[in-house]
Amino acid sequence: MTLANSLAALDAAHQLHPFTDARALEEKGPIIIEKGDGVRVWDSTGKEYLEGMSGLWSVALGFGEERLVKAAHEQLQKLPYYHTFSAKSHEPSIRLAEKIAEMAPEGLNHVFFTNSGSEANDTVVKLVWYMNNALGRPQKKKFLARKNAYHGITMASGSLTGIEADHTDFDLPILPVIHLTTPHFYRFGAEGETEAQFTARLLKEIEDTIAREGADTIAAFIGEPVMGAGGVLVPPAGYWPGVAEICRKNDILLIADEVINGFGRLGTTFGCQRMGFTPDIMSVSKQLTSSYMPLAAVVFSDAVYNAVADNSHRLGGFAHGFTASGHPVATAVGLENLKIIEERGLVAHAAELEPMFQKGLRDMLEFPIVGEARGVGLIGAIDLVADKATKRKFSKPGQVGQIANGFAHEEGLILRAIGDTLALCPPMISTEAEVAEMLRRMRVAVERTV
Ligand code: PLP
Repeated sequence: MTLANSLAALDAAHQLHPFTDARALEEKGPIIIEKGDGVRVWDSTGKEYLEGMSGLWSVALGFGEERLVKAAHEQLQKLPYYHTFSAKSHEPSIRLAEKIAEMAPEGLNHVFFTNSGSEANDTVVKLVWYMNNALGRPQKKKFLARKNAYHGITMASGSLTGIEADHTDFDLPILPVIHLTTPHFYRFGAEGETEAQFTARLLKEIEDTIAREGADTIAAFIGEPVMGAGGVLVPPAGYWPGVAEICRKNDILLIADEVINGFGRLGTTFGCQRMGFTPDIMSVSKQLTSSYMPLAAVVFSDAVYNAVADNSHRLGGFAHGFTASGHPVATAVGLENLKIIEERGLVAHAAELEPMFQKGLRDMLEFPIVGEARGVGLIGAIDLVADKATKRKFSKPGQVGQIANGFAHEEGLILRAIGDTLALCPPMISTEAEVAEMLRRMRVAVERTV
């Protein structure tokens, strides 16, 4: 039990936490993070942790980037708020939209700002539906997504999400979404199937689904190039180019959810570039501001823009937006953040660290309980199994959480447990020595479980 009137007790009394067992929190209290610097954070007892998850896969520049503080401070003094409704605008939002368009794959020149990744994906749904209504094909509304995908938790983005636990008791999905097989060979490959056969089976599943439903009813296919919150699931070779080809053939928009992958995480500016496809629409967030300010964006092609712009003209306005769309402080911080990522060559840095980081994870395959190690760039994971040969799932429920929240914390490392997976996603500014130390602490935490 926590002490009366302590911060922990007040927290339990008044705050309901996302993705947290509220009763367990009342009992044990939260870990209160007090300050951060570089790749480290400290809790209220003074304990230091290496932040192996970049917060929520997002704090690219670590926790003490003075230039972001300065950018926020200056913008707060000059113009702390203005909106972007009704043909009003302001320089930070304009400059950041231009910067994102410059960095984005060829042809993606248009940006709509939101506050969160969930709102970005809700905006994607509305944008696509608005476009198809405008183009006189109101029946073309269904989304193809994947099981275990994470696209957010609002009613629309939560419907796109394919993680069952995120639907339970929320009456989701509410959209016409078809969740297809997760492109993760280790877990979903059939007995005796090769990786190439697995890829072919998944592509056939998409084609069969389109044939069954009718291409004229399917608006878009959405996916994270590499799935993050579903457990860092790396698709098999050929999967994304195959998906892109099927979408093109069937006039189905292809949407890359780059909320985790975007701005360098996979060692390329966007995940779609690493996975070999060009989307029509991307959603971005997280590393856009290193999470110093809440901000996300939908980035889209000229074709999508033109259909939407024409319809907004016909209707007298695009009736969608948020009070804080393009918030000046958030966009000023985003612009400075992207400049720093470029100036310091952090995308190339992630690519340079990839071999040692991924090898460090794969070296853990020597433990009897590690069934798979995987990842791309500076994102990776290991899967714990009760039996390597049969890939039988780790037997005791909650045990992986115990490694992340127990042993890893004791070793001074923040990791993420996702089912039987342990994920690691170091800040993009991490040095090789810091990444090596994160891996060492992770090994110790796993070893203590063996
Ligand atoms: N899309 C992906 C791929 C994500 O990982 C997340 C969040 O983790 C979201 C969307 C939702 O973003 P937010 O939590 O900002 O609503």
